[in-house]
Amino acid sequence: MASKKLHETSHKIPLVGGCQCGSVRYRLDGAPLALAVCHCTECQRQSGSAFGMSLAVPTGAFKLLSGALKTFEVRCDSGRIKTCAFCPECGTRIYHQTPSGMSVKAGTLDDTSRLKPDSHYWTMRKQPWVIIPDGVPQFPDDD
Ligand SMILES: [Zn+2]
Ligand SMILES: [Zn+2]
Repeated sequence: MASKKLHETSHKIPLVGGCQCGSVRYRLDGAPLALAVCHCTECQRQSGSAFGMSLAVPTGAFKLLSGALKTFEVRCDSGRIKTCAFCPECGTRIYHQTPSGMSVKAGTLDDTSRLKPDSHYWTMRKQPWVIIPDGVPQFPDDD
């Protein structure tokens, strides 16, 4: 019973998350806008896995609660410049900032149980064994 209640309340805004070593903690003051999965080569490299998950958040929603973030820039497959923020202690990527907005790396949220992607990008680079459910919009690149 207690755990069920915790499960329900943990999804209320603000959402909280942090890095792998615990130094960086953050809060999202505002409901996320959308969750995108990206299969591009940069996201595969960044995650060390098959894809990246980006949770678009409203401007100003991200609040750093503890720790510090370092940033660097990468050029995406699309040619856009993306600013990447990470924990300098453990290297966990926390968010990306582009001219079109900010997206938090969704796997850094404390509770990832209800994350459900709204769309898939760069499916031309997708690992063949990743099966996208019917009805979820997918795009061969980032258009
Ligand atoms: Zn860390
Ligand atoms: Zn990507």
